Amino acid sequence: MEFTLSPEQQVVQKKAQSLAQEVQALSARLDREAQFPREILQRWAQGGMFGLALPREYGGQGLDYVAYVLAQMELAQVCPASALILHVNHSLFGGAVAQFGTPAQKEAWLPPVARGEVYACFALTEPEAGSDPAGMKTVARREPDGWVLTGAKNFVTSGGESRFALVAALTDPERGAKGISAFVVEIPATPEVTWGAREEKLGLRGATSVRLFFDQARLPEASLLGEANQGLKIMLAAMDGARVGSAAIAVGLGRGALAAAMAYAKQRRQFGQAVADFQAIQWKLADMATDLEAASLLTLKAAWLKDQKQPYGLAAAMAKRFATDAAMAAATEGVQILGGYGCLTEYPMERYFRDAKAGQIYEGTNEIMRLIIARNLLKG
Ligand SMILES: Cc1cc2nc3c(=O)[nH]c(=O)nc-3n(C[C@H](O)[C@H](O)[C@H](O)COP(=O)(O)OP(=O)(O)OC[C@H]3O[C@@H](n4cnc5c(N)ncnc54)[C@H](O)[C@@H]3O)c2cc1C
Repeated sequence: MEFTLSPEQQVVQKKAQSLAQEVQALSARLDREAQFPREILQRWAQGGMFGLALPREYGGQGLDYVAYVLAQMELAQVCPASALILHVNHSLFGGAVAQFGTPAQKEAWLPPVARGEVYACFALTEPEAGSDPAGMKTVARREPDGWVLTGAKNFVTSGGESRFALVAALTDPERGAKGISAFVVEIPATPEVTWGAREEKLGLRGATSVRLFFDQARLPEASLLGEANQGLKIMLAAMDGARVGSAAIAVGLGRGALAAAMAYAKQRRQFGQAVADFQAIQWKLADMATDLEAASLLTLKAAWLKDQKQPYGLAAAMAKRFATDAAMAAATEGVQILGGYGCLTEYPMERYFRDAKAGQIYEGTNEIMRLIIARNLLKG
């Protein structure tokens, strides 16, 4: 077993670390204003973060997924919301197109996404279809010259900022889950696509979420990604890969909370000593660090399996479940370590606490992760 990072991976890790540090102050302000963090994303795009594990021939860096998760572990320490936007671009949209697109589709859609020149979103969830996407109502009807898409998606991260949307819709409603197809919609070229107001969210406020509406949207034939009626498999495969990245974002967020808690505990004095000298606080720090280390190892293992082209769905579900729970626990204990100051927006901890929660919910809730893990265990 080899735990040493390759020189390339180390370079990416260092680069991401410095790109994260640069945007510390900006990130807190954009969260307060619930603004889409365009300036942060532009800097990260210039630093090559948007195409890390996307194919080199389509504008990416062609690195492995381990390099991508190492970068996310750094970026999310400072701005989890920007890390999530990058992640949707790179792993949910970019990952699906790289895996299932034809050469012409990859040529058309991937390069600007991999360079971070445009944003892309992933539209699966609907008001009545969350954990059970097979319950979706959005339909796409075949026409002689393409498709007509009708329906609505919600919780779409970057939906109002994106050039491309990967959208799942029923193409053979009678077949249920086996009658769903995946489409790439070029939003500015499709006037029948509109979006609602930004949702007011607990955390990840910069990663703006909107509802997308498709009112008989006309799509060209070439917008179908993969084969007709294979869409749910495509969306689920994209989420399998992406969950490894979500786990990395959680590790980064948790590390950010741990670092802030340690810095505070060393300088805050009560009863004539630093609060870091109290064993009660030391045990919290020890548990946070241990769980985050375990989360990081699960995440790196899942990424490594993906790079080796070995089955990794179980490892991804374990990593996502464990890492997002570890991040939530680290942020919760972080607030406790800061005492009353943990609740003030003047300190970064309350933002880690707010941002951590959604990680236990998006890309499949942690209840669904446990379902996937249990099914894998019991089928063998
Ligand atoms: C910040 C954020 C960003 C998001 N971004 C996107 C995005 O870009 N694109 C997108 O398509 N979606 C996105 N989502 C939506 C997200 O994927 C869904 O919220 C999630 O899948 C859960 O669906 P739901 O909210 O409808 O909850 P429900 O499915 O209604 O679940 C409610 C509760 O029931 C539990 N539950 C449901 N089924 C089971 C079961 N079989 N066994 C045990 N428990 C169960 C759930 O775990 C949960 O606790 C985002 C969500 C958030 C919060």
